[in-house]
Amino acid sequence: TIDPNSDAAIAASVTPRPIAEIAGSLGIADADLYRYGPFKGKVALALAQKAEADPRGKLILVTAINPTPAGEGKTTTTIGLGDALARAGKKTAIALREPSLGPVFGAKGGATGGGRAQVIPMDEINLHFTGDFHAITAAHNLLAAAIDNHVYWGNALDIDVRRVSWRRVVDLNDRALRKVTVGLGGPGNGFPREDGFDITVASEVMAIFCLARSLVDLEERLGRIVVAQTFARTPITAADLKVTGAMTALLRDAFQPNLVQTLEGTPVLIHGGPFANIAHGCNSVIATRAALGLADYVVTEAGFGADLGAEKFLDIKCRQANLRPSAVVVVATVRALKMHGGVAQKDLGMENIAAVSAGAANLRRHLENMATFGLPAVVAINRFTSDTPAEIAAVEEACRAVGARVHLCSHWAQGGAGAAELAETVIELAGQPSGYRPLYADELSLAEKIETVARRIYRAGSVVFDPAALARLAEFEARGYGGLPVCMAKTPYSFTADPTLRGAPEGFILPVREVRLSAGAGFVVALCGDVMTMPGLPRTPAAENIHVDEAGAIWGLF
Ligand code: ADP
Ligand code: MG
Repeated sequence: TIDPNSDAAIAASVTPRPIAEIAGSLGIADADLYRYGPFKGKVALALAQKAEADPRGKLILVTAINPTPAGEGKTTTTIGLGDALARAGKKTAIALREPSLGPVFGAKGGATGGGRAQVIPMDEINLHFTGDFHAITAAHNLLAAAIDNHVYWGNALDIDVRRVSWRRVVDLNDRALRKVTVGLGGPGNGFPREDGFDITVASEVMAIFCLARSLVDLEERLGRIVVAQTFARTPITAADLKVTGAMTALLRDAFQPNLVQTLEGTPVLIHGGPFANIAHGCNSVIATRAALGLADYVVTEAGFGADLGAEKFLDIKCRQANLRPSAVVVVATVRALKMHGGVAQKDLGMENIAAVSAGAANLRRHLENMATFGLPAVVAINRFTSDTPAEIAAVEEACRAVGARVHLCSHWAQGGAGAAELAETVIELAGQPSGYRPLYADELSLAEKIETVARRIYRAGSVVFDPAALARLAEFEARGYGGLPVCMAKTPYSFTADPTLRGAPEGFILPVREVRLSAGAGFVVALCGDVMTMPGLPRTPAAENIHVDEAGAIWGLF
């Protein structure tokens, strides 16, 4: 039995417009559209690059409070706002990340929004889409194969097989692959060594794919990836292994942005999908910049809460890609604010105005942080059916008390019509010249950059670096990487490194346990606590509810 109110059923009830029509609405000619079936296409690279050279549109970032298990709805709000701007007569495009099969079959589900604010065809987008992630997986694993092959054929580069940092990837949650031994079975199979798998979205190839400006830039960045060390501890790069041309060849078609549509026919570019912890967590630069060249308003999303997602969007992506966002939407839900105010998940069904007001401290801090970046912000309350009028009023009051704009939004239930007021405010805010400024200057030391994020965005009292991490930072600076931005890898659930501390803690100690260089992506990762790069599946994974009917329709995706 299919629930008629499920995301899959709502998506199936709408007949998509032919993709050429969607392309046409952005001025993309038929010859510049590579079709993948009737409803998906890729924008030819030449056209995408022509568009991205002149990114005239206004960029709107959708971010959120710190996530809780209660859910926030950034993607859903990005889509609802895009539809609302289109309804207001604005030439609009939405730019989103591609879904990973890990969450699709795990706990979280797909990444195409929900209710009446969805991107279609959701079944195709949430599964193989146009094959980009398969291409990225293949490119990543080609490099891994090249390392072991190089060692097998005599190891002219003197690679220390105990110091190979380039692991293998697969785009599934599979905890059994976290640590593996490769090269077993005798001399014909190479040298045995410890290895492991990450999920594809955690690959540096994914981060590079999303930050590269052209195929030439893509290949140069791939060449800078550090994969191992020699016995003398000299870094070995992908360029040393001479496979970056082949990796780029595998990625060439994938590098063209994908075009699809919302339930209401608004164009959506969905392209790339890096992790938001060890990478920067937003869709490709080429898609965002092309969208800005093709539309007057571009709505995009950054992963996790604004402390991680928006900070990296603004300090890594916008800095590297020369983007100037015009306004920020901070998504909040009554349910999540209640959790920040101390309510347990099982008690979310009960009205609790005091908890909403207390939890709003989390929201207010994110609003202050957006002002630190020089950006105007508006709060979107993503309405859930369980929210009570008094609870909604408490959120509105908490926002008004600090002079923040706020709108109750019902795009999940009503589509773009439910976000009409939010769109009006966004248009008004984006009418001012962008005041965007990154948080820190390139010239600060790497440790100072980490401290700046910790103190000014998280409100830590101090940062404690593991001595080995400080030594590595000095080594990166000595090797010429001191000018890179930092990519913070921290729990998304709290401003602190402790996932159980909700609300708006301050004065805490932020531990930096380890640092890693992503030389190709162009950032230094600071790990504050354990970061999972190969998630596991939950006890009852979403995969158990997915099936295909006799007509070939896929059910159970959400
Ligand atoms: P995020 O991008 O912040 O991770 P999503 O937009 O993907 O969140 O939403 C997460 C889940 O919550 C989706 O399954 C979506 O359908 C659901 N959801 C979002 N907004 C609402 C809402 N207002 N009411 C009910 N469910 C919602
Ligand atoms: Mg999302």
